[in-house]
Amino acid sequence: MADTVMILATGGTIAGTEDKNYASGYEPGVLSVDELIKDASLSEICNIRTSQICNINSDDITSSIWIGLAKKIDELSEDDTIKGFVITHGTDTLEETAFFLKHTVKTGKPVVITGSMKPADSKETDGPLNLYDAVKVAYDDSSSGRGVIVTFAGKIYSAAFVYKAKTDDVDAFGSYPQKILGTVEKGNVSYLQTKDKSDYNGTYFDIKGISSLPKVNIYKFNVDADPEILKMMADRSDGLILEGAGAGEYSKDLIRLMEGLSIPVVICSRSVNGYVSPGDLLNKNTVAGYSFSSQKAAILLRLALTVSCDIGFLRYIFSITAG
Ligand code: ASP
Repeated sequence: MADTVMILATGGTIAGTEDKNYASGYEPGVLSVDELIKDASLSEICNIRTSQICNINSDDITSSIWIGLAKKIDELSEDDTIKGFVITHGTDTLEETAFFLKHTVKTGKPVVITGSMKPADSKETDGPLNLYDAVKVAYDDSSSGRGVIVTFAGKIYSAAFVYKAKTDDVDAFGSYPQKILGTVEKGNVSYLQTKDKSDYNGTYFDIKGISSLPKVNIYKFNVDADPEILKMMADRSDGLILEGAGAGEYSKDLIRLMEGLSIPVVICSRSVNGYVSPGDLLNKNTVAGYSFSSQKAAILLRLALTVSCDIGFLRYIFSITAG
């Protein structure tokens, strides 16, 4: 009988404790997962099992941790007693881990990621409630088949659209271009959106035989941006993301330099609610990044490059996954 939620802990502020020696006033990734769940009343929801994946600041997450985590989730999902997964994570790169897992794990069981903005021993900590909500969502029948989701401050987000929007508010996340998926209030899970094409998990990529990802870096355009820096980045990368102004625009000098590049370049917008369509592209040899932030586009490009560097294929992947 599927009566268990598996908690996979990676660290972050939710496992952090106050410490004046740190610039932020606390150290992330200190408490173990078993310490985290001690007072969280989770056993009133379902059985809980735990695994400590790592215990770090999420700015130190690596793609090899992602690959290991995705493989572990798919292995564990064969266990019939597990109904869903909760991942505890730092908020800084939470959207990247969520997006990577969305495109790689195959299970239809709920995979829910959460964290907190205040450390575990702060009087105002938001960690225990976010963790409780995440377990509720992971254990709820209506969460299956929705892909990887994020719960934070009572809201449920699709990994496709979630992003960290604020740095000084416990309601720290936003959703773009689609709205939030639902809410979890006083333990009641309610979905506002029906399942749609963005709810699939891992349809296009198979990481079973993969132990590392191609290298993709992000170049942000600004006034007087130095084209030589882009060239240096291209020399050290398998692909690039160019974050352009407005609908993905950049200077004539950069257009000229880009003509000679032989690696794929995806064009995103530096506008907060930006969008780059194929018709906006200034260089013929580039790929439209649509509504993807540059950090999500980088993950999608890294995954796509594990399959092919053909520009037609890359354009196809970006067009069908864009929201
Ligand atoms: N730097 C922390 C982390 O991402 C911030 C947080 O968790 O809120 O691990």
